[in-house]
Amino acid sequence: MTTTISPLIAGNWKMNGTRASLDELSSLATMLTTGAAPRAIVVICPPATMVAAAARQGATSGILVGGQDCHTEGSGAHTGDIAAGMLADAGAQYVIVGHSERRADHGETDDQVRRKAMAAIGAGLKPIICVGETEGQRDAGEAEAVVKEQLAGSVPDAAENHEVNIAYEPIWAIGTGRTPTSEEIAAMHAAIRNSLVERFGERGMDIRILYGGSLKPQNAREILSVENVNGGLVGGASLLANDFYTIISAV
Ligand code: PEP
Repeated sequence: MTTTISPLIAGNWKMNGTRASLDELSSLATMLTTGAAPRAIVVICPPATMVAAAARQGATSGILVGGQDCHTEGSGAHTGDIAAGMLADAGAQYVIVGHSERRADHGETDDQVRRKAMAAIGAGLKPIICVGETEGQRDAGEAEAVVKEQLAGSVPDAAENHEVNIAYEPIWAIGTGRTPTSEEIAAMHAAIRNSLVERFGERGMDIRILYGGSLKPQNAREILSVENVNGGLVGGASLLANDFYTIISAV
Protein backbone atom coordinates (compact mmCIF):
# COMPACT_ATOMS: atom_id res chain seq x y z
CA MET A 1 0.00 0.00 0.00
CA THR A 2 1.29 3.47 -0.79
CA THR A 3 0.23 6.60 1.04
CA THR A 4 1.28 10.18 0.72
CA ILE A 5 2.42 11.65 4.00
CA SER A 6 2.94 15.39 3.90
CA PRO A 7 6.52 15.99 5.01
CA LEU A 8 7.27 18.04 8.10
CA ILE A 9 10.45 19.80 9.16
CA ALA A 10 10.59 20.85 12.81
CA GLY A 11 13.28 22.97 14.42
CA ASN A 12 14.13 22.33 18.06
CA TRP A 13 15.79 25.41 19.49
CA LYS A 14 16.37 23.64 22.82
CA MET A 15 17.48 26.06 25.58
CA ASN A 16 18.61 28.70 23.08
CA GLY A 17 17.02 31.97 22.21
CA THR A 18 15.67 35.17 23.61
CA ARG A 19 13.38 37.71 22.00
CA ALA A 20 16.27 38.81 19.80
CA SER A 21 16.10 35.40 18.11
CA LEU A 22 12.74 36.35 16.68
CA ASP A 23 14.79 38.22 14.05
CA GLU A 24 15.97 34.83 12.84
CA LEU A 25 12.35 33.75 12.62
CA SER A 26 11.44 36.78 10.56
CA SER A 27 14.36 36.10 8.19
CA LEU A 28 13.05 32.56 7.80
CA ALA A 29 9.55 33.89 7.21
CA THR A 30 10.87 36.20 4.48
CA MET A 31 12.68 33.31 2.79
CA LEU A 32 9.60 31.10 2.98
CA THR A 33 7.25 33.71 1.63
CA THR A 34 9.48 35.08 -1.13
CA GLY A 35 11.11 31.83 -2.30
CA ALA A 36 9.44 28.77 -3.80
CA ALA A 37 6.57 27.56 -1.60
CA PRO A 38 7.92 24.97 0.87
CA ARG A 39 6.87 21.37 0.26
CA ALA A 40 7.01 20.66 3.97
CA ILE A 41 5.00 21.75 6.98
CA VAL A 42 7.41 24.01 8.89
CA VAL A 43 7.41 23.99 12.69
CA ILE A 44 9.66 25.86 15.12
CA CYS A 45 9.89 24.71 18.75
CA PRO A 46 11.41 27.63 20.66
CA PRO A 47 11.87 27.81 24.42
CA ALA A 48 8.51 28.05 26.20
CA THR A 49 9.11 31.72 26.97
CA MET A 50 8.91 32.48 23.27
CA VAL A 51 6.07 30.24 22.14
CA ALA A 52 3.44 32.98 22.18
CA ALA A 53 5.62 35.55 20.40
CA ALA A 54 6.80 33.00 17.83
CA ALA A 55 3.23 31.88 17.18
CA ARG A 56 2.13 35.49 16.64
CA GLN A 57 5.03 36.09 14.30
CA GLY A 58 4.68 32.76 12.48
CA ALA A 59 1.00 33.28 11.81
CA THR A 60 1.67 35.54 8.84
CA SER A 61 4.18 33.24 7.15
CA GLY A 62 2.76 29.78 7.74
CA ILE A 63 5.44 28.82 10.27
CA LEU A 64 3.80 26.72 12.97
CA VAL A 65 5.01 26.59 16.54
CA GLY A 66 5.55 23.75 18.99
CA GLY A 67 6.61 23.31 22.60
CA GLN A 68 9.65 21.25 23.60
CA ASP A 69 7.92 19.34 26.40
CA CYS A 70 4.67 19.27 28.35
CA HIS A 71 3.49 17.82 31.65
CA THR A 72 1.40 14.67 31.89
CA GLU A 73 -1.29 16.56 33.85
CA GLY A 74 -3.51 19.40 32.72
CA SER A 75 -2.87 21.63 35.75
CA GLY A 76 -1.86 21.49 39.39
CA ALA A 77 1.00 21.74 41.86
CA HIS A 78 3.93 21.17 39.48
CA THR A 79 6.18 24.18 39.89
CA GLY A 80 8.05 25.10 36.75
CA ASP A 81 6.19 22.68 34.51
CA ILE A 82 4.02 23.56 31.54
CA ALA A 83 0.74 21.87 30.65
CA ALA A 84 -0.11 21.00 27.08
CA GLY A 85 -3.18 23.21 27.27
CA MET A 86 -0.98 26.18 28.18
CA LEU A 87 1.11 25.63 25.07
CA ALA A 88 -2.05 25.41 22.99
CA ASP A 89 -3.32 28.58 24.66
CA ALA A 90 -0.07 30.32 23.69
CA GLY A 91 -0.56 29.34 20.05
CA ALA A 92 1.39 26.08 19.77
CA GLN A 93 0.11 23.28 17.55
CA TYR A 94 2.82 20.69 18.18
CA VAL A 95 4.89 19.53 21.12
CA ILE A 96 8.03 17.41 21.31
CA VAL A 97 7.83 14.70 23.97
CA GLY A 98 10.43 12.20 25.10
CA HIS A 99 13.43 13.97 23.59
CA SER A 100 16.54 12.03 24.62
CA GLU A 101 17.81 15.10 26.51
CA ARG A 102 14.64 15.04 28.64
CA ARG A 103 14.87 11.29 29.07
CA ALA A 104 18.50 11.72 30.22
CA ASP A 105 18.29 14.98 32.19
CA HIS A 106 14.93 14.35 33.83
CA GLY A 107 14.81 10.56 33.92
CA GLU A 108 11.67 10.44 31.79
CA THR A 109 10.39 6.92 31.19
CA ASP A 110 8.48 5.54 28.21
CA ASP A 111 5.33 5.52 30.33
CA GLN A 112 5.71 9.21 31.20
CA VAL A 113 6.37 10.04 27.59
CA ARG A 114 3.21 8.16 26.57
CA ARG A 115 1.19 10.10 29.16
CA LYS A 116 2.69 13.37 27.93
CA ALA A 117 1.69 12.45 24.38
CA MET A 118 -1.82 11.70 25.64
CA ALA A 119 -1.95 15.04 27.45
CA ALA A 120 -0.84 16.74 24.26
CA ILE A 121 -3.55 15.04 22.22
CA GLY A 122 -6.10 15.90 24.89
CA ALA A 123 -5.15 19.56 24.54
CA GLY A 124 -5.43 19.45 20.75
CA LEU A 125 -1.67 19.39 20.13
CA LYS A 126 0.17 17.04 17.79
CA PRO A 127 2.93 15.26 19.66
CA ILE A 128 6.36 14.56 18.17
CA ILE A 129 7.44 11.48 20.11
CA CYS A 130 11.22 10.94 20.14
CA VAL A 131 12.93 7.57 20.23
CA GLY A 132 16.51 6.52 19.58
CA GLU A 133 19.35 4.34 20.74
CA THR A 134 22.69 5.12 22.37
CA GLU A 135 25.95 4.37 20.59
CA GLY A 136 26.58 1.42 22.92
CA GLN A 137 23.19 -0.06 22.09
CA ARG A 138 23.88 0.29 18.36
CA ASP A 139 27.33 -1.27 18.70
CA ALA A 140 25.76 -4.16 20.60
CA GLY A 141 23.28 -4.73 17.75
CA GLU A 142 20.37 -3.70 19.96
CA ALA A 143 19.27 -0.52 18.19
CA GLU A 144 16.07 -1.86 16.60
CA ALA A 145 15.01 -3.73 19.73
CA VAL A 146 15.56 -0.61 21.86
CA VAL A 147 13.62 1.62 19.50
CA LYS A 148 10.76 -0.89 19.19
CA GLU A 149 10.49 -1.06 22.97
CA GLN A 150 10.45 2.74 23.20
CA LEU A 151 7.73 2.88 20.57
CA ALA A 152 5.62 0.27 22.34
CA GLY A 153 5.90 2.19 25.63
CA SER A 154 5.82 5.79 24.41
CA VAL A 155 3.21 5.85 21.65
CA PRO A 156 -0.33 6.02 23.07
CA ASP A 157 -3.22 3.94 21.71
CA ALA A 158 -4.79 7.27 20.74
CA ALA A 159 -2.39 7.35 17.78
CA GLU A 160 -5.03 5.15 16.14
CA ASN A 161 -7.22 8.18 15.49
CA HIS A 162 -5.14 11.28 16.34
CA GLU A 163 -2.09 12.76 14.66
CA VAL A 164 1.16 11.69 16.25
CA ASN A 165 4.62 12.01 14.76
CA ILE A 166 7.57 9.80 15.56
CA ALA A 167 11.10 11.23 15.52
CA TYR A 168 13.89 8.68 15.24
CA GLU A 169 16.91 10.36 16.79
CA PRO A 170 19.96 8.18 17.39
CA ILE A 171 21.39 9.74 20.56
CA TRP A 172 24.97 9.45 19.29
CA ALA A 173 24.06 11.57 16.25
CA ILE A 174 22.53 14.47 18.20
CA GLY A 175 24.76 17.52 18.14
CA THR A 176 27.81 15.47 17.12
CA GLY A 177 27.98 16.02 13.37
CA ARG A 178 27.80 12.23 12.92
CA THR A 179 24.87 10.51 11.23
CA PRO A 180 23.94 6.94 10.42
CA THR A 181 24.38 5.92 6.79
CA SER A 182 21.35 6.17 4.50
CA GLU A 183 21.11 2.36 4.65
CA GLU A 184 21.05 2.42 8.46
CA ILE A 185 18.40 5.14 8.46
CA ALA A 186 16.33 3.21 5.90
CA ALA A 187 16.56 0.03 7.98
CA MET A 188 15.50 1.76 11.19
CA HIS A 189 12.68 3.70 9.58
CA ALA A 190 11.40 0.49 7.95
CA ALA A 191 11.51 -1.23 11.35
CA ILE A 192 9.56 1.66 12.89
CA ARG A 193 7.04 1.56 10.04
CA ASN A 194 6.61 -2.18 10.55
CA SER A 195 5.95 -1.85 14.24
CA LEU A 196 3.44 0.95 13.64
CA VAL A 197 1.63 -1.19 11.06
CA GLU A 198 1.71 -4.25 13.34
CA ARG A 199 0.08 -2.19 16.08
CA PHE A 200 -2.23 0.15 14.17
CA GLY A 201 -2.87 -1.65 10.89
CA GLU A 202 -3.20 0.57 7.81
CA ARG A 203 -3.24 3.63 10.04
CA GLY A 204 0.42 2.88 10.76
CA MET A 205 1.22 3.70 7.13
CA ASP A 206 0.08 7.30 7.69
CA ILE A 207 2.10 8.09 10.81
CA ARG A 208 4.92 10.48 10.03
CA ILE A 209 8.43 9.28 10.90
CA LEU A 210 10.98 12.09 11.15
CA TYR A 211 14.74 11.65 11.23
CA GLY A 212 16.73 13.74 13.69
CA GLY A 213 20.43 13.94 14.57
CA SER A 214 22.93 16.26 12.87
CA LEU A 215 20.59 16.94 9.95
CA LYS A 216 22.40 19.76 8.12
CA PRO A 217 22.18 21.66 4.84
CA GLN A 218 24.96 19.37 3.53
CA ASN A 219 23.22 16.04 4.19
CA ALA A 220 19.52 17.02 4.13
CA ARG A 221 18.85 16.10 0.53
CA GLU A 222 20.27 12.60 0.91
CA ILE A 223 18.68 11.83 4.28
CA LEU A 224 15.27 13.31 3.47
CA SER A 225 15.01 11.19 0.34
CA VAL A 226 15.43 7.90 2.23
CA GLU A 227 12.34 5.70 2.15
CA ASN A 228 10.03 6.16 5.15
CA VAL A 229 11.75 9.40 6.14
CA ASN A 230 8.81 11.81 6.22
CA GLY A 231 10.71 14.87 7.35
CA GLY A 232 13.19 15.92 9.99
CA LEU A 233 13.68 17.16 13.52
CA VAL A 234 16.53 19.64 13.42
CA GLY A 235 18.46 20.98 16.42
CA GLY A 236 21.54 23.12 15.86
CA ALA A 237 20.86 23.86 12.20
CA SER A 238 17.44 25.29 12.99
CA LEU A 239 18.95 28.23 14.88
CA LEU A 240 20.12 29.96 11.72
CA ALA A 241 17.42 30.89 9.23
CA ASN A 242 19.66 30.25 6.22
CA ASP A 243 20.60 26.72 7.27
CA PHE A 244 17.08 25.82 8.29
CA TYR A 245 15.68 27.19 5.04
CA THR A 246 18.17 25.10 3.05
CA ILE A 247 17.02 21.97 4.91
CA ILE A 248 13.35 22.84 4.32
CA SER A 249 14.10 23.40 0.62
CA ALA A 250 15.76 19.98 0.40
CA VAL A 251 12.37 18.30 0.82
C1 PEP B 1 17.74 17.30 18.36
O1 PEP B 1 18.26 17.37 19.45
O2 PEP B 1 16.51 17.14 18.25
C2 PEP B 1 18.63 17.34 17.20
C3 PEP B 1 18.24 16.72 16.12
O3 PEP B 1 19.81 18.02 17.35
P1 PEP B 1 20.94 18.27 16.23
O4 PEP B 1 20.25 18.52 14.92
O5 PEP B 1 21.68 19.46 16.71
O6 PEP B 1 21.76 17.03 16.18
